[in-house]
Amino acid sequence: MRFRLMAAGVGATALIATALTSAPAQANHAWSDYHWARTSNPFALKLDNNVTSGWSSYLSTASSDWTKSDKLNTSVQSGSFGSKSTCSPTTGHVEVCNSTYGNTGWLGVASISITTGDHISRAYVKINDTYFNQAQYNTVPYKHLVMCQEVGHTLGLDHQDTNQTNPNLGTCMDYTTNPAGPPSNEHPNSHDYAELDTIYAHLDSFNTPTLVGAAAAEADRAQGASNETPAAWGKLIEGSASRGAGTFVRDLGNGNATITYVTWAQ
Ligand SMILES: [Zn+2]
Ligand SMILES: [Zn+2]
Repeated sequence: MRFRLMAAGVGATALIATALTSAPAQANHAWSDYHWARTSNPFALKLDNNVTSGWSSYLSTASSDWTKSDKLNTSVQSGSFGSKSTCSPTTGHVEVCNSTYGNTGWLGVASISITTGDHISRAYVKINDTYFNQAQYNTVPYKHLVMCQEVGHTLGLDHQDTNQTNPNLGTCMDYTTNPAGPPSNEHPNSHDYAELDTIYAHLDSFNTPTLVGAAAAEADRAQGASNETPAAWGKLIEGSASRGAGTFVRDLGNGNATITYVTWAQ
């Protein structure tokens, strides 16, 4: 892959070409093709519940929403470190955490670790209660939007739209300041499932959700800690560094990278 990121226009053109030559119409909102490596579909992915009780139902809803994809089945399991703020990623897992992370500027962060060029080996989500404890964000629609979107990123999905003031597209992958809509941006839409069909159409010769041993150690070694600073996130490649949504890439060399999707508070 390698910075196909840098050549978003080329990627979009290729996707459009694909859409023109194959039915059904393909979604085209992911400029990357980051995906979990797997030898068969649907594949199983564990979402580790490290959230406090107030967030558990939102995680369960996000899990069942994304499992409607015929390419993957997510399941929520007990996390290994409770609702601690560190949320260190574990190879093969999606760690989901919340905490009062402070006035960081971000409502939520989703990070994916990339190995062998375009395969996701681990991921984490952090939800910042410093903002979600405030009336503006402490709403059912806002919590659905952010949990659904951050988990969607851990599957390899990008935003469908990052303009926070234009009309809602009816998907949680659309950034908005009005998640209730109408239409509601609290859940995925058919375009998201079509995108998952596209990025999970091929099969790989190995499985990153169950990576163990030397391969897992190598993937972990190559990746940084879950340190939420712009320096740790790397280069801004899409969106804004401080408003709306922003996507950052840290190139770690040898086909390893971390991609961080940041949802900024208003
Ligand atoms: Zn692959
Ligand atoms: Zn996002």
